This record gives sequence, structure tokens and C-alpha cells, in this order.
Amino acid sequence: MKTFGIVGHPVRQSLSPAMHNAAIKHLGLDAEYRLLDIDPKDPEELANFCYESDLNNIGGFSVTMPYKLDIMAYMDHYDPLAKIVGSVNTVVNEDNKLIGYNTDAIGAIQALREKTNLIGKKILIMGAGGAARAIAYSMKDFQADVHIYNRTLEKAEEIAKAFEIEAIDHSKIQTADFDIIINATPVGMFPNSEESLLHSDKIPSHAVVMDIITNPLETQLLKEAKKAGAQTISGERMLLHQAVDQFRLFFGQEAPVKVMEEALYEELKRRR
Ligand code: NAP
Repeated sequence: MKTFGIVGHPVRQSLSPAMHNAAIKHLGLDAEYRLLDIDPKDPEELANFCYESDLNNIGGFSVTMPYKLDIMAYMDHYDPLAKIVGSVNTVVNEDNKLIGYNTDAIGAIQALREKTNLIGKKILIMGAGGAARAIAYSMKDFQADVHIYNRTLEKAEEIAKAFEIEAIDHSKIQTADFDIIINATPVGMFPNSEESLLHSDKIPSHAVVMDIITNPLETQLLKEAKKAGAQTISGERMLLHQAVDQFRLFFGQEAPVKVMEEALYEELKRRR
């Protein structure tokens, strides 16, 4: 039996095992997907986990905070997208070689496309970390007018330069008429759930607002968007679609999307 799992710290709240194990069971695969908590206090633990992945029969793993950048040092190869985006959230053990991928970009795009067309839209991305970078890069196919805002403006400017989009400061996010607004920062995440980078009076009613935070699912930003009459997309939609693409990479076959979706919502209901 091959072992798969999620590497990060802490991982006990992860929704990934519910989705992947449901898909594994549905397809009758000889595999399991586990929590693989790695203590950041021990700098050698991540390296040892990677070096010993063959011994431990690891077929692949998801990577979450705080290891999406650090894990890159232990890859034998990267997928070009992971290299461009500069972070890895999926590792596949192919014939004893670790290959790094990034499925956040496709996850975000799929989640947005469930509610809106992206072509030619005026888009705001808030944040300049790994997720924001993946989303910014993936906008290149849509001839969209993409703007990026970040607390540390220089990081937004670096992404803007790399992906030919526009970096803007805080005053501009309050005044511009965006069609799509994406929060890719942890602002509004538990326990600071009352925080939001935008308030309802600054959100156009025609906008689609996506928050990629998964705890809580209805963030303050999404509450503000609803108050403004805008459409909303919560973080579990991106989580689902990035996991679907991960499953395809792990097992070399299409994932049973409906099965994974049902497992995700069942697990969320169980935790309420
Ligand atoms: P990251 O690399 O740590 O980047 C965080 C970004 O948020 C940075 O640009 C940072 O700005 C900004 N930021 C942090 N605290 C802030 C604050 N108080 N005010 C304003 N800006 C702030 O994180 P990441 O990996 O990109 O993840 C970002 C969020 O997305 C997390 O909540 C994560 O859980 C979520 N996520 C969700 C999914 C999903 O599938 N739903 C996938 C990936 C990530 P500075 O540059 O100024 O520090």
C-alpha cells in the first residue's frame, strides 16, 4: 500500500484527508492519505522526511504552511509552473525522484470560473504570498486587467513586474471599480475573524468576491460583499479544485470530483 498525506504544521484541522480518502475508497486504490505533521522546531525533520520518502513508501504528498517554499530545496525536479510561481503545494514520488508541482493556481481559477467569466475583467488580487503569486500568474490566459495590492508594496511590485500586471496601493483598492476581488491574505482568518481589507461601501454590487481563507468559510470580507449585493465564493471551492488536480498528479487518473466534493461538505458539516 502506498502512503500519501499532507505535510505541514499544524495539520490536524486539514480537510484534505477527507477528500483524498473518499476518492481512494471510491476508486478502490491500494493507498491511504494521512496527516504528516512536521515540527518546524526541528530543522532536520523536513529534510529527513523527504530523503526517507522511498523507505516509507510515500507515493506523494500535499504541502501546506509553513513549508511551501522550504520544500523546494528537496525536490529533484519541478514542474515549470511551480518554478515560475516559486512555491510547491504538491509533491509526487516518481521512481524515487521527488517532483514539485503547484495546483493552487488551477484551484483558484476553477473556483472563480464556477461563478464568472474572467476574460477582459478588471481584477483585484490582495496579497503577495505564495497563493497570490500563483493566482496572479494564472490570470495571464484571460486578457484581464489585473491589479495587485499588498501590505508590503515592494512585493506586489515585484509580482507585477514578473507577470505584467499593475501594483496598486491601499487608496486605489478603496476607489477602483473591480469586477472580481480576491483575498489571498490571511486577513479575516480565525481568530481575527472580524477583520476585512474592504468594507461593503467599497465593493461594487456587480463584483464577484472570492476569499481563499477556509477558517472561517464566511469571512468578514464575504459578509461585506453580501451586504454590498455582490456574489461570493468561499475558500473551500479553491481547496476542492486544488485537491482534485493533486489527486490526478498522485494517481495518474482523473479524480472523482463529486465524491471529493461530497466528502468535503460532509466533513465541514461534521465539524460545525
Ligand atoms: P503567505 O505566503 O504567508 O502570504 C501572506 C500574504 O498576506 C503576504 O502578502 C502578507 O503581506 C499578507 N498579509 C499577512 N498578514 C497581513 C495583514 N495583517 N494585513 C495585510 N496583509 C497581510 O501565505 P499564502 O500561502 O499565500 O496563503 C495566504 C492565505 O491563503 C492563507 O490564509 C492560506 O490559508 C490561504 N490559502 C488557501 C488555499 C485554498 O485552497 N483555499 C490555498 C492556499 C492558501 P506581507 O508581504 O506584507 O507580509
